[in-house]
Amino acid sequence: MAPHPQVNDRPTILRIAVPSPLRTSFDYRPPVGVPIASIQPGVRLRIPFGRSTRIGILLAKVNHSELAPDRLKAALQVLDPEPLLPRASLDFLLWTSRYYHHPIGETLFTALPVALRRGAAATRSKAALHWRPSATGRAVDATTLGRAPRQQAVLQALQSHSDGLDEVALRGIHKDWRCVLKTLQEKAWVESCDAPQVVTKKPARDWQPNTAQQLAIETVDVRRGCFQPYLLDGVTGSGKTEVYLELAERTIAAGQQVLILVPEIGLSPQMISRYQRRLQAPFAVLHSGLSQRERLDGWLAARDGEAAIVIGTRSAIFVPLARPGLFIVDEEHDPSYKQQDGLRYSARDLAVIRARNAAAPIVLGSATPSLESLRNVEAGRYERLHLPARVGNARPPGISIIDLRKQPPHAPLAPPLLSAMERCLEKGEQALLFVNRRGYAPVYLCHSCGAISDCPRCDAHMVLHQKSGRLRCHHCGTEQAPPSKCPACGAAAFIPVGAGTQRISTSLQERLPKARILRIDRDSTRRKGAMEGALEQIHAGEVDILVGTQMLAKGHHFPKVTLVGILDADGGLFGTDFRASERLAQLIVQVAGRAGRGERPGQVYIQTHHPDHRLLHALVEKGYENFAQAALRERQEAALPPYSWLALLRAEAPTQKANFGFLEAARSLAEKILAPGLMLLGPVPAVMERRRGRYRARLLMQADSREVMQTRLDPWLDTLQRHKSARRVRWSLDIDPVEVD
Ligand code: ADP
Ligand code: ZN
Repeated sequence: MAPHPQVNDRPTILRIAVPSPLRTSFDYRPPVGVPIASIQPGVRLRIPFGRSTRIGILLAKVNHSELAPDRLKAALQVLDPEPLLPRASLDFLLWTSRYYHHPIGETLFTALPVALRRGAAATRSKAALHWRPSATGRAVDATTLGRAPRQQAVLQALQSHSDGLDEVALRGIHKDWRCVLKTLQEKAWVESCDAPQVVTKKPARDWQPNTAQQLAIETVDVRRGCFQPYLLDGVTGSGKTEVYLELAERTIAAGQQVLILVPEIGLSPQMISRYQRRLQAPFAVLHSGLSQRERLDGWLAARDGEAAIVIGTRSAIFVPLARPGLFIVDEEHDPSYKQQDGLRYSARDLAVIRARNAAAPIVLGSATPSLESLRNVEAGRYERLHLPARVGNARPPGISIIDLRKQPPHAPLAPPLLSAMERCLEKGEQALLFVNRRGYAPVYLCHSCGAISDCPRCDAHMVLHQKSGRLRCHHCGTEQAPPSKCPACGAAAFIPVGAGTQRISTSLQERLPKARILRIDRDSTRRKGAMEGALEQIHAGEVDILVGTQMLAKGHHFPKVTLVGILDADGGLFGTDFRASERLAQLIVQVAGRAGRGERPGQVYIQTHHPDHRLLHALVEKGYENFAQAALRERQEAALPPYSWLALLRAEAPTQKANFGFLEAARSLAEKILAPGLMLLGPVPAVMERRRGRYRARLLMQADSREVMQTRLDPWLDTLQRHKSARRVRWSLDIDPVEVD
């Protein structure tokens, strides 16, 4: 039957986004008895959907539908008296859905706190109880609490908010705040009180911004009220955070809100309390460790303009703001800003879009800027602000390369590194060893025939773990007892090969029996509060050697660490991904930045079999900036991002044949709409061809113009999703992928 467009001058139909993989919105009539004029875009509605009901969000009111009038169902109920999403948010999310070619309903629901997705009322919890320091508590010198850093952090925060902090603020300072608060209450240092009425004094700062900081601050500040992206490029400890704080302070003083994004791992209690101490303003902290209720409260406080400062991890980029005035993305190079499933967005890139929409400046800060951002500086789209030196006496660490070819084989720590560690410990300083694998041994190998224990479900080796004595796959979680006999040759001669964090810790302990060694990786910090506990031990000087994975490279300040060892740089030099060397350089510089931040200078040792590698050389001899320039030229010659644009079509299925059937079809459909400057690469099997028992393959689209690529994707996806081969695979499209695997 032909559609019956119902033409009317006044809208009668609700166009609603519903979370569903279908790349479309859905039309409904208003609920019976509810005048359409009373329903505004941005409200949630309950609607009949298939055989059940769903919650959807009103996108627009329209006056005709592709559906015949008698086929339009009525919505059941309007859930919000006022729009849940303000117009600006709705527009931003529509843009996001178009740019990432992700269904609008799923995009909107990704952006909402879970409670709202499930239909909770958009109201804040009752005025929460607040706590403030008692008269005795105000008189305590919190700096004397160095041995009890959790109490110190909470008390300091309370002292600088003498009119009181609520549960959300305290949770932001420490996960175990209730327990800490109880201790402080027992000492009669804190008391409960009503919500604060007025904002009072500002904490004193006993120093002035240096010239480079001042220049950065003023440059951004004069552009308040205008869109301008800035790249704040400064080594670790050069005072970037102080620049953020000062700019945030001025923005708040002007009555506007500040959104600060930090990488997951950088959102530490110390960091939040630093912001809270300095900025006397209502805060909303948004991260994955919160309860649904807490997240909703923070989200509403941001939307309604009550929170002047909103600080959060990746997904906080979707929080509506009543009066946005400044956007900050700390550690902008961090890959955790990219979501790797569902709506595959980059929170950093979206932050730039939000700043543009809000006509506000945005500061992207890093000691190791991404090549994308450096390219944007080169092209004049971003302005670079440079903090060239560490603040105060802290000197940058020296970097030495240890040529593993000249060292005894199979020793994870070369003798020069070991003796440097011994010297470091003799001086009572701390050492940090960076290992890129957790577990005991990354490979379990038959000494007789060379067979390797592989995961039955993935194309990956099983990793031997010490405590459980079992083999574990880091990709799918499969666990097994180590085989007693080799399934290939029958020999009983399996040996662990290579070294993960556990093995390094164990063998170091044998070499240096007196050293207090602490391992930090995903296994050792899984328990709640374990990471905080570890950091406290480190700061209290109860640890001599830290052995850890990249968890150690971000955000934390370790002023007593003066020696850093990077045990294996080779993986990064020859990684399969074109970003491998960029990641390695960022890692080296970030880990190195943990050393010698106090008065003592630091030293970094990098172990490699390729001491003459061009990029490694550029990095060590002339620093990150020089490395980045060399890497940019390589990318340009190869026409790789940021000099081209990528869209990666991934497929996953029980057989590789199904994947190739789909991707070949996708390729021929794409060939029909190709434009000059658009290229297709593949299909090819993924680097890890099988994962969790499913086969994986990819087709890559590469374009020299983002606009041209964008115009081709929609028609392509429309035909692709209807193609019969699409039913046999799970597929997804990744715009601007960070991993081309
Ligand atoms: P980054 O964010 O670049 O790592 P921070 O802003 O954390 O650097 O600054 C490093 C340390 O130096 C902090 O303890 C900070 O309080 C201090 N600091 C920053 N700027 C100054 C300054 N102008 N004078 C004195 N100390 C400063
Ligand atoms: Zn596996």
